[in-house]
Amino acid sequence: MLFNSDARGDGCSRTTAGPGLTRFLAGFALAFAVAGCGPSSSLAGPAGGDGESPGKAEKTRTVVSKSGYDVTPLSKEEVARLAKKLDPNSYRVTQHAGTEPAFCGNLLDNKTDGVYACVVCGLPLFTSDHKFNSGTGWPSFTREIDPAHVSRKTDASHDMERVEINCARCGAHLGHVFTDGPAPTGERHCLNSASMKFLEKGAPVPAESQPVKLETAYFAAGCFWGVEHWFERGPGVLDAVSGYMQGSAGKPTYEEVSSGRTGHAETVKVVYDANRITYRRLVEAFFAMHDPTQRDRQGPDVGTQYRSGIWTADGQQRKVAEAVIRELADRKAYGEKPIVTAVEPSKEFWPAEEYHQEYIARTGAFCHVKNPW
Ligand SMILES: [Zn+2]
Repeated sequence: MLFNSDARGDGCSRTTAGPGLTRFLAGFALAFAVAGCGPSSSLAGPAGGDGESPGKAEKTRTVVSKSGYDVTPLSKEEVARLAKKLDPNSYRVTQHAGTEPAFCGNLLDNKTDGVYACVVCGLPLFTSDHKFNSGTGWPSFTREIDPAHVSRKTDASHDMERVEINCARCGAHLGHVFTDGPAPTGERHCLNSASMKFLEKGAPVPAESQPVKLETAYFAAGCFWGVEHWFERGPGVLDAVSGYMQGSAGKPTYEEVSSGRTGHAETVKVVYDANRITYRRLVEAFFAMHDPTQRDRQGPDVGTQYRSGIWTADGQQRKVAEAVIRELADRKAYGEKPIVTAVEPSKEFWPAEEYHQEYIARTGAFCHVKNPW
């Protein structure tokens, strides 16, 4: 028997549009470390009263599929939050591996061009290019839009051994895949309409169903250890790298930069998904993280390599950075003290030595900056 279900449906019902996806990180306690960068201590280290719990600060490394989508597995809490917005039928199918009755799903006979996305998290899963009429009563496809978007696992329920398919990002139950499909794959991906929402070709695509839009920003806010640590944990940030910028010599070493003679500033390169976090939000985080009224120093770290700076990639970034500085000054965010942050066009970024990367996460050291998220 070739079917994908236990067929304990609750009648034919329509799926509704899925919820928007706003990824969030588990709430952190604010870390107000006042000292400079140093080894772990009771002041603000992982066990410190004012430091954040390292467990809560953990961020799963972002995974981007070959087709350019963020497929980092969502936390259980995030999936629960998204699933709350589903209609009862979609909830039952996606969260409890349910199956809609055959010939009932609203996408079975859909012949419009477009993309079939996960009803829970919005990740594109299948396209109309691979849809075919299998005659089984469930929407059928010869392949996924990208194999990294649909995970497979053995399903031994109902005295059968089948291959269950799930959304790779949120784990939603989608259906099963069988080996009796047409060429070229020979596969039949048997789906529940209730697990998917259809995005018609040419219609606006919601943010959660779009590929990542990679952009880069550069910030100098004193010792880069803590700055990298907190930017790395920003929602929508894919990577943060410690390095050196705005100096004269190429390929500077830490020792050369520390001498203050090369003109470099310790800088963090932030690669982010512009669909999920704005450059403005990053600039705001930068100002929340450090004290931009200290000239050529942060906390106990003194020298031009610790200066406060925003190194802009283009004119648009410059406009945003200058606007945020104006707003902070206008509302006297730092009292009468002027903001001394430099805003300059970015020069070449030189990644710092490997032992500086992810220093806080690896060593439990603390730093002068605070959690801006
Ligand atoms: Zn999903």
